[in-house]
Amino acid sequence: MLTQNTASSATTTSLDGRVAIVTGSTSGIGLGIARALAAAGADVVLNGLGDPDAIEATRAELAESSAGRITYNCANLLDAADAAALVTDTITDFGKVDILVNNAGIQFVSPIEDFPIDKWNAIQALNLGASFHSSRAAFGAMKAAGWGRIINLASVHGLIASPFKSAYVAAKHGVIGLTKTIALEGAQFGVTCNAVCPGYVWTPLVEGQIEDTAKARGISREEVINNVLLAAQPSKRFVTVEELGAVTLFLCSEGAASITGVALPVDGGWTGQ
Ligand code: NAD
Repeated sequence: MLTQNTASSATTTSLDGRVAIVTGSTSGIGLGIARALAAAGADVVLNGLGDPDAIEATRAELAESSAGRITYNCANLLDAADAAALVTDTITDFGKVDILVNNAGIQFVSPIEDFPIDKWNAIQALNLGASFHSSRAAFGAMKAAGWGRIINLASVHGLIASPFKSAYVAAKHGVIGLTKTIALEGAQFGVTCNAVCPGYVWTPLVEGQIEDTAKARGISREEVINNVLLAAQPSKRFVTVEELGAVTLFLCSEGAASITGVALPVDGGWTGQ
């Protein structure tokens, strides 16, 4: 049961007894969110690609340091059937799903006239399609239980655009539309759905696009970091995965029960400009 632990801190949220899926949690933001939910006592299903030994080491480390059960599901979310099976497998294994964090995502940077069609298709399938297929599979069970939290990792690029990111910006704008729709459908059933919109977070996904951006703009790596990435972020620092874990935990709390359909920027002021 989710309770507020007022004895130690009014802001400490317990997720004891809750079952959470975090897609794309073998790395970066997803792993930061999985850590936060596990630390709050939730059972957590990890998902994502990567070296099996490294994933098992991460799973074991999380299991060692938290009270809940921590498992791993290898669903490849480019595949719609896998995205649904991630949820149905969890319900079979744990008896329910309370929290679904749709976080897995990829990026590709290119001028639109050269944008590879297969990259467009993959970005729509993973960044937008998987969020739909997993949410579709989870929604009925959450609705029947009268409680659920669906949290979609969108981006500031779900709210505004940058050049050379046509597929990503389109998919993330779609994620926010999907979020609002699920929120309306869940509003009377205790199921909230919100989008978290980070600015730049230092993760492998950002590292990977530095070289591509440098190439697309004809500038150096340092110029990409200082003049492109952090130029738009008034805080002049990267958002941390711990901050995104804390925001997600709050959205899972009872205090956030009336927050639904929101696209919440966590961007150091970027979209305030
Ligand atoms: P990351 O590359 O560090 O992690 C991505 C995760 O998705 C990994 O666990 C990876 O294994 C998983 N993944 C990739 N393809 C998959 C597939 N086919 N099936 C299942 N899992 C797959 O990226 P990140 O920076 O942590 O990004 C996480 C999310 O946050 C993404 O949706 C991204 O768009 C969003 N985001 C990131 C930033 C940023 O600055 N890093 C900013 C805004 C939004």
